[in-house]
Amino acid sequence: MLPLVALVGRPNVGKSTLFNALTRSRDALVHDQPGVTRDRHYGVCRPLELRPFAVVDTGGIAGEDEGLAGATARQARAAAEEADLVLFIVDGREGASALDDDILRWLRKTARPTLLVVNKTDGIDVQAALNDFARYGFSDRVAISSAHRTGIDQLIAEVLKRLPEQGSQAELDQDPNRIRVAFIGRPNVGKSTLVNRLLGEERMIASEVPGTTRDSVAIDMERDGRLYRLIDTAGLRRKARVEEAVEKFSIVKTLQAIEQCQVAVVMLDAGEGVTDQDASVLGYALDAGRALVIAANKWDGQTDYQRQQTEALLTRKLSFVEWAEAVRISAKHGSGLRELFQAIHRAHESATREFGTSEVNKALEIAYETNPPPTVRGHVAKLRYAHPAASNPPTFVVHGTRLRTLADSYKRYLENFFRKRFKLVGTPVRFIYKEGA
Ligand code: GDP
Ligand code: GDP
Repeated sequence: MLPLVALVGRPNVGKSTLFNALTRSRDALVHDQPGVTRDRHYGVCRPLELRPFAVVDTGGIAGEDEGLAGATARQARAAAEEADLVLFIVDGREGASALDDDILRWLRKTARPTLLVVNKTDGIDVQAALNDFARYGFSDRVAISSAHRTGIDQLIAEVLKRLPEQGSQAELDQDPNRIRVAFIGRPNVGKSTLVNRLLGEERMIASEVPGTTRDSVAIDMERDGRLYRLIDTAGLRRKARVEEAVEKFSIVKTLQAIEQCQVAVVMLDAGEGVTDQDASVLGYALDAGRALVIAANKWDGQTDYQRQQTEALLTRKLSFVEWAEAVRISAKHGSGLRELFQAIHRAHESATREFGTSEVNKALEIAYETNPPPTVRGHVAKLRYAHPAASNPPTFVVHGTRLRTLADSYKRYLENFFRKRFKLVGTPVRFIYKEGA
C-alpha cells in the first residue's frame, strides 16, 4: 500500500511550499499539461529508486479555532488522523507560537507518529532554531528549507524510516500473467455497477485475493481466456447508498489503486462531460506513469444529438491525453465491454513492450534527420544516440549536446514520432535527456 504522510502546521509555515518540493515531478512536460487540474492538497512523492508515499497538505488545522474550521479543517483533521506519519511543520524564523502549541496539543490527542520539521532555516542559525522547539519534546527534529530545497532528501530518508512495511504490494505484483486493472473515477460515474457486472458475468471465476490489508480487496477474474486482477477502488465493494459513496470518495484510496495497477481505467459519466474532478483523477494516473484507458460510461442514456455533443466535448477536453483510447460503454447494459477490454490490452501491451537498442537508435536517427531541432540564439541541439531505459511506461534515454535548448514542442515531436513508429497506444512515453556524447 501507498503510505500516507500528512503535512500539519499553522498557516504560513511553508506547508504548500514543502508539498510542492515533495510532489512535483522534475519533468515539466509531465506536470504542466494544460487540461489537467491539480488538486493542490494531495500528491505522491516519488524519490528516485526509493519507495513512493502519498502526501496530503492539510492546510490550516487552526487549533481550537472553529471559526476557521468548516469542512476544510474537518477533512484536514481526518487526513491527519488516518496518516501513517504526520509532519508537524514549524517556522524556524519565527520560533514557537501559541498556535503551534495548540496544534501540538491536538496532535498528542490523535497520537499519530509525528516528526517535527523546522522549516525556513535558510540563512539563520539552524541549531538555535532547532533549540527553540526543544520544549516540544520531539527526539527527532529535521531542519529544512522548502523554498531552497535544502534538507529535503534527508527529510525523505527520515520519513521512509518511519513508514510501515511495504506489505501487500509485493503480493499483488506476484502473478505476472495477470493484468492489474483499476477502475477509478469520481463518485457515481458507475464504477461499482461496472465491476459488479463484470463479476456477475464471470461469476465463479472471480475470487478475492487474500492477504490484502483491511481496506484493500483485490479480485481476480478471467475474461475471454485472459487473467485480470481488479485492484481495489470504492467500486469493488457493494455499497448501501449512493450518498455513502460520495462521502467516502477517498483521493488517498484512488492514489493507492493507481499505484498498484498497471492499467488505470478512468471512468467518466458521459452525460456530464469532463469535470474538474475527472481531470484531477486523470492527472494522478498521468503522474504515476500508468497505462490509461478512458471509459465514457452511461452511453445508453443519450440521444444521438447528445452523443455528438459529448464526442466533441471529450475530444476537446481530453486533448492532453490524446494517446489514450476512449471507449463508450454502458455499465448498466453491458455494452462496449469487449472494446473496453481490448483497449486495456492494447494499453498494457504498449506499456510493457520491450525495446532493442538498435530500433530505438534508428527511430531517433530518422526523427532527427526528418526534422532537426531549430537553432536557438545561434545554438543548435545535437541528438546523438538513444537507448531504452525502462518499460511501463516506456522510457528512452536520449544523449546529445546543448539539450537545454530543446524546446518543449520539439520534445513533443519526438514523443509523437516514437509513438507512431512503435504503435504505442494508451501509455505515457518518457524521455530522459542526457547531456554529453
Ligand atoms: P503554508 O500556508 O503553510 O502553506 O505556507 P506557504 O508554503 O504558502 O509559505 C508561506 C510563505 O513562506 C511564502 O511566502 C513562502 O515563500 C515562504 N516560505 C516557505 N518555505 C520557505 C523557506 O524554506 N524559507 C523561506 N525563507 N521562506 C519560505
Ligand atoms: P460509482 O460511485 O462510481 O461506483 O457509481 P455506481 O456504480 O454506484 O453508479 C451510480 C449511479 O449511476 C447508479 O444509480 C447506477 O445505476 C447508475 N449507472 C451506472 N452505470 C450506468 C450506465 O451505464 N447507464 C446508466 N444510465 N446509469 C448507470
